[in-house]
Amino acid sequence: MALIVQKYGGSSVADGELIKSVARRVAKAKDEGNQVIVVVSAMGDTTDELIKLAHQVSEQPGERELDVLLSTGEVISSTLLAMALENLGYEAVSLSGAQAGIQTDSSYSRARIRRVDPKRVVNELNKGNIVIIAGFQGVTADMDVTTLGRGGSDTTAVALAVALNARMCQIYTDVEGVYAADPRLVPEAGKLKEVGYEEMLELASYGVKVMHPRAVELAELYNIPILVASSFSDSPGTIICKEASMEVRNKVRGIAHDTNVAKITVVGVPDHPGIAAAIFEPLTRASISVDTIVQNASVENITDLTFTVARDDLVKAMSIVEPVIKSIGAKRCVADSTLAKVSIVGTGMQNTPGYAAKMFRTLFKEGINIQLITTSEIRITCIISEDRVKDATQALHRAFELEKFA
Ligand code: ADP
Ligand code: ASP
Ligand code: MG
Repeated sequence: MALIVQKYGGSSVADGELIKSVARRVAKAKDEGNQVIVVVSAMGDTTDELIKLAHQVSEQPGERELDVLLSTGEVISSTLLAMALENLGYEAVSLSGAQAGIQTDSSYSRARIRRVDPKRVVNELNKGNIVIIAGFQGVTADMDVTTLGRGGSDTTAVALAVALNARMCQIYTDVEGVYAADPRLVPEAGKLKEVGYEEMLELASYGVKVMHPRAVELAELYNIPILVASSFSDSPGTIICKEASMEVRNKVRGIAHDTNVAKITVVGVPDHPGIAAAIFEPLTRASISVDTIVQNASVENITDLTFTVARDDLVKAMSIVEPVIKSIGAKRCVADSTLAKVSIVGTGMQNTPGYAAKMFRTLFKEGINIQLITTSEIRITCIISEDRVKDATQALHRAFELEKFA
Protein backbone atom coordinates (compact mmCIF):
# COMPACT_ATOMS: atom_id res chain seq x y z
CA MET A 1 0.00 0.00 0.00
CA ALA A 2 1.54 3.31 -1.07
CA LEU A 3 1.53 6.43 1.09
CA ILE A 4 0.48 9.60 -0.66
CA VAL A 5 0.86 13.17 0.62
CA GLN A 6 -1.43 15.66 -1.10
CA LYS A 7 -1.63 19.41 -0.44
CA TYR A 8 -4.51 21.66 -1.46
CA GLY A 9 -3.96 25.44 -1.57
CA GLY A 10 -6.29 28.22 -0.44
CA SER A 11 -8.17 28.74 -3.69
CA SER A 12 -8.81 24.98 -3.94
CA VAL A 13 -10.67 24.98 -0.60
CA ALA A 14 -12.16 28.48 -0.83
CA ASP A 15 -15.78 27.46 -0.12
CA GLY A 16 -17.96 24.52 0.91
CA GLU A 17 -18.54 23.28 -2.66
CA LEU A 18 -14.80 23.32 -3.40
CA ILE A 19 -14.07 21.47 -0.16
CA LYS A 20 -16.61 18.81 -1.20
CA SER A 21 -14.91 18.52 -4.58
CA VAL A 22 -11.46 18.17 -2.91
CA ALA A 23 -12.99 15.49 -0.66
CA ARG A 24 -14.01 13.53 -3.78
CA ARG A 25 -10.45 13.73 -5.16
CA VAL A 26 -8.99 12.60 -1.82
CA ALA A 27 -11.53 9.75 -1.64
CA LYS A 28 -10.42 8.61 -5.10
CA ALA A 29 -6.80 8.35 -3.93
CA LYS A 30 -7.98 6.28 -0.95
CA ASP A 31 -10.13 4.05 -3.21
CA GLU A 32 -7.05 3.34 -5.31
CA GLY A 33 -5.64 1.56 -2.26
CA ASN A 34 -3.36 4.27 -0.85
CA GLN A 35 -2.81 5.56 2.65
CA VAL A 36 -3.58 9.26 2.29
CA ILE A 37 -2.30 12.31 4.14
CA VAL A 38 -3.76 15.65 3.09
CA VAL A 39 -2.30 19.04 4.00
CA VAL A 40 -4.62 22.01 3.59
CA SER A 41 -4.20 25.78 3.41
CA ALA A 42 -6.69 28.24 4.86
CA MET A 43 -9.84 28.88 2.80
CA GLY A 44 -9.37 31.55 0.10
CA ASP A 45 -8.09 34.82 1.56
CA THR A 46 -8.63 33.82 5.19
CA THR A 47 -5.02 34.47 6.20
CA ASP A 48 -5.13 38.03 4.82
CA GLU A 49 -8.46 38.62 6.56
CA LEU A 50 -7.11 37.38 9.88
CA ILE A 51 -4.11 39.72 9.55
CA LYS A 52 -6.49 42.63 8.88
CA LEU A 53 -8.57 41.68 11.89
CA ALA A 54 -5.50 41.65 14.13
CA HIS A 55 -4.61 45.15 12.92
CA GLN A 56 -8.11 46.36 13.73
CA VAL A 57 -7.53 45.67 17.40
CA SER A 58 -3.84 46.54 17.64
CA GLU A 59 -1.36 48.69 15.74
CA GLN A 60 1.35 46.12 16.27
CA PRO A 61 -0.15 42.75 17.16
CA GLY A 62 2.10 40.63 19.37
CA GLU A 63 3.83 37.94 17.34
CA ARG A 64 2.81 35.04 19.58
CA GLU A 65 -0.88 35.87 19.48
CA LEU A 66 -0.75 36.64 15.75
CA ASP A 67 0.67 33.18 14.99
CA VAL A 68 -2.04 31.46 17.03
CA LEU A 69 -4.66 33.54 15.22
CA LEU A 70 -3.26 32.78 11.74
CA SER A 71 -2.96 29.06 12.48
CA THR A 72 -6.73 28.89 12.98
CA GLY A 73 -7.32 29.47 9.24
CA GLU A 74 -5.79 26.10 8.36
CA VAL A 75 -7.49 24.42 11.34
CA ILE A 76 -10.88 25.48 9.95
CA SER A 77 -10.29 24.03 6.49
CA SER A 78 -8.83 20.78 7.90
CA THR A 79 -11.94 20.14 10.01
CA LEU A 80 -14.29 20.93 7.12
CA LEU A 81 -12.45 18.58 4.77
CA ALA A 82 -12.57 15.80 7.39
CA MET A 83 -16.34 16.38 7.77
CA ALA A 84 -16.85 16.32 3.99
CA LEU A 85 -14.98 13.01 3.78
CA GLU A 86 -17.01 11.51 6.64
CA ASN A 87 -20.11 12.61 4.79
CA LEU A 88 -18.93 10.59 1.77
CA GLY A 89 -18.56 7.56 4.02
CA TYR A 90 -14.77 7.72 4.60
CA GLU A 91 -13.01 7.69 7.94
CA ALA A 92 -11.00 10.87 8.33
CA VAL A 93 -9.40 12.78 11.16
CA SER A 94 -8.12 16.36 11.22
CA LEU A 95 -4.93 17.27 13.12
CA SER A 96 -3.38 20.65 13.86
CA GLY A 97 0.33 21.07 13.11
CA ALA A 98 1.09 20.51 16.80
CA GLN A 99 -0.94 17.29 16.91
CA ALA A 100 0.78 16.11 13.74
CA GLY A 101 4.18 16.49 15.46
CA ILE A 102 5.50 19.44 13.42
CA GLN A 103 8.14 20.85 15.77
CA THR A 104 9.65 24.23 14.95
CA ASP A 105 12.03 26.82 16.32
CA SER A 106 10.46 29.84 17.99
CA SER A 107 10.81 32.44 15.20
CA TYR A 108 7.18 33.49 15.06
CA SER A 109 5.78 34.14 11.57
CA ARG A 110 8.76 32.50 9.87
CA ALA A 111 9.42 29.42 12.00
CA ARG A 112 11.61 26.65 10.64
CA ILE A 113 10.71 22.99 11.08
CA ARG A 114 13.23 21.30 13.38
CA ARG A 115 11.79 17.82 13.23
CA VAL A 116 8.58 15.95 12.57
CA ASP A 117 7.47 13.36 15.08
CA PRO A 118 5.03 11.35 12.96
CA LYS A 119 3.78 8.96 15.74
CA ARG A 120 0.23 10.28 15.88
CA VAL A 121 -0.09 10.50 12.10
CA VAL A 122 1.15 6.91 11.67
CA ASN A 123 -1.27 5.78 14.36
CA GLU A 124 -4.21 7.36 12.59
CA LEU A 125 -3.13 5.95 9.21
CA ASN A 126 -2.88 2.50 10.73
CA LYS A 127 -6.45 2.82 12.00
CA GLY A 128 -7.46 3.32 8.35
CA ASN A 129 -8.09 7.04 8.64
CA ILE A 130 -7.43 9.62 5.97
CA VAL A 131 -5.35 12.15 7.90
CA ILE A 132 -6.02 15.84 7.21
CA ILE A 133 -3.33 18.13 8.56
CA ALA A 134 -3.53 21.91 8.99
CA GLY A 135 -0.63 23.32 6.95
CA PHE A 136 1.58 26.37 7.61
CA GLN A 137 1.99 25.75 11.34
CA GLY A 138 3.95 23.96 14.02
CA VAL A 139 4.72 24.10 17.69
CA THR A 140 7.82 25.08 19.69
CA ALA A 141 9.43 22.95 22.38
CA ASP A 142 7.41 25.10 24.85
CA MET A 143 4.16 24.20 23.06
CA ASP A 144 3.62 27.63 21.56
CA VAL A 145 2.02 27.67 18.13
CA THR A 146 4.14 29.06 15.29
CA THR A 147 3.57 29.69 11.58
CA LEU A 148 6.05 28.95 8.82
CA GLY A 149 5.78 32.10 6.67
CA ARG A 150 3.32 32.95 3.88
CA GLY A 151 2.80 30.08 1.49
CA GLY A 152 4.23 27.69 4.09
CA SER A 153 1.68 24.87 3.67
CA ASP A 154 3.78 23.56 0.78
CA THR A 155 6.65 23.15 3.24
CA THR A 156 4.41 21.30 5.71
CA ALA A 157 3.48 18.85 2.94
CA VAL A 158 7.07 18.17 1.86
CA ALA A 159 8.22 17.83 5.51
CA LEU A 160 5.54 15.19 6.11
CA ALA A 161 6.45 13.38 2.88
CA VAL A 162 10.07 13.27 4.08
CA ALA A 163 9.18 12.16 7.63
CA LEU A 164 6.86 9.41 6.41
CA ASN A 165 9.02 8.22 3.53
CA ALA A 166 6.43 8.99 0.91
CA ARG A 167 7.59 8.44 -2.65
CA MET A 168 6.24 11.78 -3.83
CA CYS A 169 4.50 14.94 -2.63
CA GLN A 170 1.54 16.20 -4.67
CA ILE A 171 0.80 19.93 -4.60
CA TYR A 172 -2.67 20.74 -5.97
CA THR A 173 -3.37 24.35 -6.83
CA ASP A 174 -5.35 26.68 -9.10
CA VAL A 175 -3.07 26.33 -12.16
CA GLU A 176 -2.14 23.16 -14.04
CA GLY A 177 1.54 23.12 -13.13
CA VAL A 178 4.66 25.27 -13.27
CA TYR A 179 4.69 27.46 -16.37
CA ALA A 180 7.58 29.25 -18.07
CA ALA A 181 5.97 32.47 -16.76
CA ASP A 182 2.95 33.28 -14.60
CA PRO A 183 0.00 32.20 -16.78
CA ARG A 184 -1.98 35.14 -15.38
CA LEU A 185 0.48 37.55 -17.02
CA VAL A 186 1.35 35.47 -20.07
CA PRO A 187 -1.71 33.46 -21.14
CA GLU A 188 0.29 31.62 -23.83
CA ALA A 189 3.03 30.58 -21.36
CA GLY A 190 4.18 27.01 -21.83
CA LYS A 191 3.72 24.48 -19.03
CA LEU A 192 6.92 22.70 -18.01
CA LYS A 193 6.71 18.89 -17.92
CA GLU A 194 9.67 18.75 -15.60
CA VAL A 195 11.86 21.26 -13.78
CA GLY A 196 14.98 20.70 -11.70
CA TYR A 197 15.13 21.55 -7.98
CA GLU A 198 17.83 24.17 -8.47
CA GLU A 199 15.88 26.07 -11.11
CA MET A 200 12.61 25.75 -9.21
CA LEU A 201 14.24 27.06 -6.03
CA GLU A 202 15.55 30.11 -7.86
CA LEU A 203 12.17 30.67 -9.58
CA ALA A 204 10.27 30.30 -6.29
CA SER A 205 12.68 32.59 -4.43
CA TYR A 206 12.21 35.27 -7.10
CA GLY A 207 8.42 35.26 -7.18
CA VAL A 208 7.01 32.07 -8.72
CA LYS A 209 4.67 31.59 -5.81
CA VAL A 210 3.17 28.31 -6.97
CA MET A 211 5.83 26.71 -4.70
CA HIS A 212 7.18 27.88 -1.33
CA PRO A 213 10.99 28.09 -1.74
CA ARG A 214 11.63 26.20 1.50
CA ALA A 215 9.48 23.31 0.29
CA VAL A 216 11.69 23.02 -2.80
CA GLU A 217 14.85 23.19 -0.66
CA LEU A 218 13.59 20.40 1.57
CA ALA A 219 12.52 18.24 -1.36
CA GLU A 220 15.95 18.65 -2.94
CA LEU A 221 17.72 17.78 0.30
CA TYR A 222 15.80 14.50 0.64
CA ASN A 223 15.35 13.93 -3.09
CA ILE A 224 11.55 13.79 -2.95
CA PRO A 225 9.87 14.47 -6.30
CA ILE A 226 7.03 17.01 -6.22
CA LEU A 227 4.06 16.97 -8.57
CA VAL A 228 2.43 20.39 -9.10
CA ALA A 229 -1.01 19.96 -10.66
CA SER A 230 -4.50 21.38 -10.76
CA SER A 231 -7.16 20.74 -8.12
CA PHE A 232 -9.75 21.35 -10.81
CA SER A 233 -8.65 19.13 -13.69
CA ASP A 234 -6.79 15.89 -14.39
CA SER A 235 -4.16 17.44 -16.61
CA PRO A 236 -0.72 15.87 -15.96
CA GLY A 237 1.04 18.77 -14.17
CA THR A 238 4.75 19.43 -13.63
CA ILE A 239 7.28 17.20 -11.88
CA ILE A 240 9.97 18.95 -9.82
CA CYS A 241 12.89 16.57 -9.49
CA LYS A 242 16.60 16.13 -10.15
CA GLU A 243 17.27 17.43 -13.62
CA ALA A 244 18.11 14.94 -16.40
CA SER A 245 18.60 16.34 -19.87
CA MET A 246 19.87 19.83 -19.12
CA GLU A 247 22.08 20.35 -22.20
CA VAL A 248 19.44 19.73 -24.81
CA ARG A 249 16.91 22.19 -23.53
CA ASN A 250 16.40 25.88 -23.75
CA LYS A 251 18.84 27.65 -21.49
CA VAL A 252 16.24 29.99 -20.04
CA ARG A 253 13.63 27.81 -18.33
CA GLY A 254 11.41 30.39 -16.77
CA ILE A 255 10.66 33.99 -15.93
CA ALA A 256 9.80 35.04 -12.40
CA HIS A 257 8.33 38.33 -11.28
CA ASP A 258 7.90 39.76 -7.82
CA THR A 259 6.08 42.96 -6.96
CA ASN A 260 6.85 42.83 -3.26
CA VAL A 261 9.87 45.11 -3.66
CA ALA A 262 10.86 48.42 -2.10
CA LYS A 263 14.10 50.29 -2.67
CA ILE A 264 16.04 52.45 -0.23
CA THR A 265 18.84 54.73 -1.45
CA VAL A 266 21.22 56.33 1.01
CA VAL A 267 22.59 59.43 -0.68
CA GLY A 268 25.97 61.05 0.01
CA VAL A 269 27.58 58.25 1.99
CA PRO A 270 31.19 58.91 3.11
CA ASP A 271 33.31 56.17 1.50
CA HIS A 272 35.34 54.60 4.28
CA PRO A 273 35.52 51.20 6.02
CA GLY A 274 32.68 50.21 8.35
CA ILE A 275 29.89 52.19 6.69
CA ALA A 276 28.12 49.21 5.10
CA ALA A 277 28.28 47.32 8.40
CA ALA A 278 26.85 50.34 10.25
CA ILE A 279 23.84 50.37 7.91
CA PHE A 280 23.16 46.65 7.53
CA GLU A 281 23.89 45.31 11.01
CA PRO A 282 20.90 47.04 12.66
CA LEU A 283 18.65 45.79 9.83
CA THR A 284 19.81 42.23 10.45
CA ARG A 285 19.18 42.62 14.19
CA ALA A 286 15.61 43.62 13.32
CA SER A 287 15.30 40.47 11.13
CA ILE A 288 14.85 42.52 7.96
CA SER A 289 16.26 40.70 5.01
CA VAL A 290 17.99 42.86 2.47
CA ASP A 291 18.11 41.65 -1.09
CA THR A 292 19.88 43.53 -3.87
CA ILE A 293 22.69 45.82 -2.67
CA VAL A 294 24.40 48.22 -5.06
CA GLN A 295 27.10 50.70 -4.13
CA ASN A 296 28.58 53.04 -6.72
CA ALA A 297 32.33 53.58 -7.04
CA SER A 298 32.92 56.79 -5.12
CA VAL A 299 33.79 60.15 -6.59
CA GLU A 300 35.64 62.39 -4.10
CA ASN A 301 35.01 59.85 -1.34
CA ILE A 302 31.24 60.22 -1.46
CA THR A 303 29.01 57.44 -2.78
CA ASP A 304 25.36 56.34 -2.94
CA LEU A 305 24.19 53.01 -1.54
CA THR A 306 20.99 51.36 -2.76
CA PHE A 307 19.31 48.21 -1.48
CA THR A 308 15.93 46.50 -1.64
CA VAL A 309 13.67 45.05 1.07
CA ALA A 310 10.19 43.52 1.04
CA ARG A 311 7.49 46.22 0.97
CA ASP A 312 6.09 45.17 4.34
CA ASP A 313 9.50 45.88 5.85
CA LEU A 314 9.93 49.35 4.30
CA VAL A 315 8.59 51.50 7.14
CA LYS A 316 10.55 49.57 9.75
CA ALA A 317 13.71 49.60 7.60
CA MET A 318 13.48 53.39 7.09
CA SER A 319 13.01 53.93 10.81
CA ILE A 320 16.21 51.96 11.42
CA VAL A 321 18.28 53.50 8.63
CA GLU A 322 17.37 57.16 9.26
CA PRO A 323 19.15 57.50 12.62
CA VAL A 324 22.17 55.62 11.22
CA ILE A 325 22.48 58.14 8.37
CA LYS A 326 23.00 60.96 10.84
CA SER A 327 25.60 59.01 12.77
CA ILE A 328 27.66 58.14 9.65
CA GLY A 329 27.37 61.59 8.09
CA ALA A 330 25.38 60.59 4.98
CA LYS A 331 23.09 63.19 3.41
CA ARG A 332 19.64 61.61 3.29
CA CYS A 333 17.74 58.49 2.38
CA VAL A 334 15.01 58.05 -0.21
CA ALA A 335 12.44 55.23 -0.45
CA ASP A 336 10.52 53.90 -3.45
CA SER A 337 7.89 51.20 -3.15
CA THR A 338 6.60 51.12 -6.72
CA LEU A 339 9.14 48.64 -8.04
CA ALA A 340 9.24 45.02 -9.09
CA LYS A 341 11.77 42.36 -9.98
CA VAL A 342 11.75 40.45 -13.24
CA SER A 343 14.15 37.52 -13.50
CA ILE A 344 15.16 34.99 -16.13
CA VAL A 345 16.28 31.64 -14.68
CA GLY A 346 18.00 28.62 -16.18
CA THR A 347 20.93 26.37 -15.22
CA GLY A 348 21.92 26.27 -18.89
CA MET A 349 22.81 29.99 -18.81
CA GLN A 350 25.91 29.24 -16.73
CA ASN A 351 29.08 30.03 -18.64
CA THR A 352 27.11 31.01 -21.75
CA PRO A 353 27.47 34.64 -22.76
CA GLY A 354 24.72 36.73 -24.30
CA TYR A 355 21.73 36.16 -22.03
CA ALA A 356 22.13 39.36 -20.04
CA ALA A 357 22.57 41.45 -23.20
CA LYS A 358 19.48 39.87 -24.76
CA MET A 359 17.42 40.54 -21.63
CA PHE A 360 18.54 44.19 -21.45
CA ARG A 361 17.88 44.76 -25.17
CA THR A 362 14.43 43.20 -24.89
CA LEU A 363 13.51 45.54 -22.03
CA PHE A 364 15.02 48.52 -23.87
CA LYS A 365 12.91 47.73 -26.97
CA GLU A 366 9.82 47.86 -24.74
CA GLY A 367 10.95 51.24 -23.38
CA ILE A 368 11.39 49.78 -19.89
CA ASN A 369 13.99 51.43 -17.68
CA ILE A 370 16.20 49.09 -15.65
CA GLN A 371 16.90 50.56 -12.22
CA LEU A 372 19.10 47.84 -10.72
CA ILE A 373 20.55 44.55 -11.93
CA THR A 374 21.60 41.48 -9.93
CA THR A 375 22.69 38.05 -11.02
CA SER A 376 23.46 34.59 -9.71
CA GLU A 377 25.03 31.80 -11.76
CA ILE A 378 21.63 30.73 -13.04
CA ARG A 379 19.60 33.97 -12.83
CA ILE A 380 19.56 37.55 -14.09
CA THR A 381 17.24 39.97 -12.28
CA CYS A 382 16.27 43.49 -13.35
CA ILE A 383 14.48 45.87 -11.02
CA ILE A 384 11.96 47.93 -12.97
CA SER A 385 8.84 49.99 -12.37
CA GLU A 386 5.97 47.84 -11.09
CA ASP A 387 3.57 49.05 -13.78
CA ARG A 388 5.76 47.55 -16.53
CA VAL A 389 5.99 44.03 -15.09
CA LYS A 390 3.40 42.51 -17.39
CA ASP A 391 4.99 44.05 -20.52
CA ALA A 392 8.45 42.93 -19.41
CA THR A 393 7.37 39.36 -18.67
CA GLN A 394 5.50 39.01 -21.96
CA ALA A 395 8.37 40.49 -23.98
CA LEU A 396 10.95 38.22 -22.31
CA HIS A 397 8.75 35.17 -22.84
CA ARG A 398 8.63 36.05 -26.56
CA ALA A 399 12.31 36.94 -26.86
CA PHE A 400 13.50 33.67 -25.32
CA GLU A 401 10.85 31.70 -27.25
CA LEU A 402 9.72 29.91 -24.14
CA GLU A 403 6.50 28.61 -25.67
CA LYS A 404 8.70 26.29 -27.79
CA PHE A 405 10.53 24.70 -24.92
CA ALA A 406 7.90 23.81 -22.35
P1 ADP B 1 -2.11 27.94 -3.54
O1 ADP B 1 -3.16 28.77 -2.90
O2 ADP B 1 -2.64 26.72 -4.22
O3 ADP B 1 -0.93 27.67 -2.65
P2 ADP B 1 -0.65 30.08 -4.83
O4 ADP B 1 -1.51 31.27 -5.07
O5 ADP B 1 0.30 30.12 -3.67
O6 ADP B 1 -1.59 28.80 -4.78
O7 ADP B 1 0.19 29.75 -6.13
C1 ADP B 1 -0.46 29.56 -7.37
C2 ADP B 1 -0.32 30.82 -8.21
O8 ADP B 1 1.06 31.00 -8.56
C3 ADP B 1 -1.03 30.75 -9.53
O9 ADP B 1 -2.37 31.14 -9.42
C4 ADP B 1 -0.20 31.66 -10.42
O10 ADP B 1 -0.82 32.92 -10.66
C5 ADP B 1 1.07 31.92 -9.61
N1 ADP B 1 2.25 31.74 -10.45
C6 ADP B 1 3.24 32.67 -10.59
N2 ADP B 1 4.15 32.25 -11.45
C7 ADP B 1 3.77 31.02 -11.87
C8 ADP B 1 4.34 30.08 -12.77
N3 ADP B 1 5.48 30.32 -13.40
N4 ADP B 1 3.68 28.89 -12.97
C9 ADP B 1 2.53 28.64 -12.31
N5 ADP B 1 1.94 29.51 -11.45
C10 ADP B 1 2.55 30.68 -11.23
N1 ASP C 1 -2.57 30.30 4.48
C1 ASP C 1 -1.17 30.65 4.43
C2 ASP C 1 -0.97 31.83 3.49
O1 ASP C 1 -1.92 32.37 2.95
C3 ASP C 1 -0.29 29.50 4.10
C4 ASP C 1 -0.49 28.87 2.74
O2 ASP C 1 -1.50 29.14 2.09
O3 ASP C 1 0.36 28.08 2.33
O4 ASP C 1 0.14 32.27 3.34
MG1 MG D 1 0.84 28.72 -2.16
